[in-house]
Amino acid sequence: MRDPRYDILFEPVKIGPHTAKNRFYQVPHCNGGGYRDPSAAAEMRGVKAEGGWGVIFTEQTEMHPSSEITPFIELRLWEDQDIPSIARMAERMKTHGGLAGIQLAYSGINGPNLYTKEVPLAPTALPIRTFTNDPVQARAMDRQDIRNLRRWFVNAAKRCHTAGFDLICLYGAHGFGIFQHFLSRATNQRMDEYGGSLENRARFAREVIADMREAVGETMAFTLRVSLDETIGELGFSNAEVRDFIEMNRDLPDLWDLAHGTWEDCSGPSRFKEEAAQEQLVRGIRELSDKPVVGVGRFTSPDVMARMIRQGTLDFIGCARPSIADPFLPKKIEEGRIEDIRECIGCNICITGDMTQGMGRCTQNPTWMEEWRRGWHPERMNAKGASQNVLIVGSGPAGLEAARALSLRGYDVAIAEARDEIGGRVARERKLPGLSAWGRVVDYRQYQLSQRPNVETYPASRLDAEQILEFGFHNVCIATGAHWRADGVARQHVVPMPMDKAMPVYTPDDLMEGRVPKGRVVVYDDDHYYMGGVLAELLTQIGCEVTLITPAPYVSDWARNTLEQTAIHVRLAAAGVRIVLNRGVAAILAGAVETNCSYTDARERTPCDAVVIVGSRLSEDDLFHDLQARKAEWADAGILSVKVIGDACAPGPIAWATHAGHRYARELDEPERGYDMPFRREVTRLAD
Ligand code: ADP
Ligand code: SF4
Repeated sequence: MRDPRYDILFEPVKIGPHTAKNRFYQVPHCNGGGYRDPSAAAEMRGVKAEGGWGVIFTEQTEMHPSSEITPFIELRLWEDQDIPSIARMAERMKTHGGLAGIQLAYSGINGPNLYTKEVPLAPTALPIRTFTNDPVQARAMDRQDIRNLRRWFVNAAKRCHTAGFDLICLYGAHGFGIFQHFLSRATNQRMDEYGGSLENRARFAREVIADMREAVGETMAFTLRVSLDETIGELGFSNAEVRDFIEMNRDLPDLWDLAHGTWEDCSGPSRFKEEAAQEQLVRGIRELSDKPVVGVGRFTSPDVMARMIRQGTLDFIGCARPSIADPFLPKKIEEGRIEDIRECIGCNICITGDMTQGMGRCTQNPTWMEEWRRGWHPERMNAKGASQNVLIVGSGPAGLEAARALSLRGYDVAIAEARDEIGGRVARERKLPGLSAWGRVVDYRQYQLSQRPNVETYPASRLDAEQILEFGFHNVCIATGAHWRADGVARQHVVPMPMDKAMPVYTPDDLMEGRVPKGRVVVYDDDHYYMGGVLAELLTQIGCEVTLITPAPYVSDWARNTLEQTAIHVRLAAAGVRIVLNRGVAAILAGAVETNCSYTDARERTPCDAVVIVGSRLSEDDLFHDLQARKAEWADAGILSVKVIGDACAPGPIAWATHAGHRYARELDEPERGYDMPFRREVTRLAD
């Protein structure tokens, strides 16, 4: 049963006319599905309701066609025909007594309106501020525009009411919502009664909330999501001004939702931000208002959560990522199952769903955004099929997740691992600078497997085809991973690059095994995710003089999708890494690399003592092919199936491997689908 230390987390708390059943508050978060996949998004929220969250919010909902953030896919509530899809979400949120919240966003200086082609409206005429520097400027709103916008907010509030929501969150954080644009002197340079003094800059928020209260206030509560600090110095909406604003408007919303400056700050990855990183910025704000306060901080520890409440910093524990990694987090605390919590690792892969307009993924929770499409529940597996047992070869994230999920289905599972240590790539990568929290991928699964009677793990057991045929398991799952290539093949070079043998060349595997270079080292990053930057950091720590060369225009280019790229560049620059962008390595010579400009091919030489190639990886699939070659012997050995999954099938990020492991477990003994339509889709209905 529940530990009494955590009772405080289960106290009901009032928000306007409603009462949340506990203090677990899923703050608004995107998921990549949005208006394109409304049932998938609704079911994802429904699973959180089942997991015990007291308050559950939508992602940002664009509330009027004069402001939208294409290409990003959020929700839309522009007219009555948008109501049914968001009503489905509200209904799913409320299934277990949770409160249903919707976040209304008017993007103002953030909305390029690439879809509607409407002229963007903002407090002050300035270029649109987006991730992609769109060549679009906003027009300054006049008084009539402001009156219109107030009316649009009221119309949206009425539609939210019709759709069945209990709470409306007005978005004014992360630099993204019109409320912040009015509050900040950086984006509000008006000379009229809406600009200048803080009182004037707060006028718009006061008016909108008053209008909405009049329209639907008896049955709906209003929360205001504001940035804790715009982090652009005196000019912006600073932490001191946020405090003044809240004190001056003590009772304005029914709840204060406090989120740090930019989205990058607020959703800081574990590589750069600890749990509860916003504590200092939030502390003391609660005393400035009589209304409850919610704050975030990648909370996964119930002790930290209880401390936040007990010391009076927060009234609600706000979670986005921890609720994605484990939608059942509240329920597990309530049932005294702390060790079963699947802790978020802070990798921000979930955010890439939004940034790439793909479908949300989570490294820790492969069922995220598959709840409706594939019918995957995070806590329940499908029934066992006809066969009895599975041999999993390899204990990386793919093998471990397959084992965990298969054991829940009721199969007898054996995991054979060549190394002494369980965990595959994660066992090694967690030791790299800043990546220790990623070890939770292994820790969570290892603990879960230790609790299962039907799983045996065999470390230090490298298997070959002969042994596997002798063992005679019904099913063989090859999850043997991949290794980094040393020949330079990746994106710039599709065949091995010219290389003088006199130059010592290392791969990430070498460095992770402790074989490290000395002196002047070139890190050639043609992988573009975290590894190049992390290894450059590691090399500076052991005293190397590091030059990072990449053909991309950014260090760790793809990490823009995980909101880490800026922090990576800053950290490397601070560590003294020389960063060379837009240049590839055309050839490795004795004593130097020959670099070439990504645009002009202009050549230069960079003298160095060693090169670390962070290029691509090669699957360890020999074992799979050996078994395929002996298919004729399977029947006699009792083998029904042999499959290759994860990096051994095609290398990718860790989240791809846990997804592959989970999928293997779900689909074992199910009818073979191959590449046929693998999940349910929602298809737009043609208009009459
Ligand atoms: P993935 O990301 O797909 O899970 P990893 O590279 O993390 O892959 O893990 C693969 C694991 O498989 C490694 O720990 C590796 O030692 C192990 N392995 C590779 N070949 C064999 C083999 N023949 N027998 C047992 N274990 C193996
Ligand atoms: Fe946490 Fe990573 Fe999952 Fe996002 S993808 S919820 S950061 S574990």
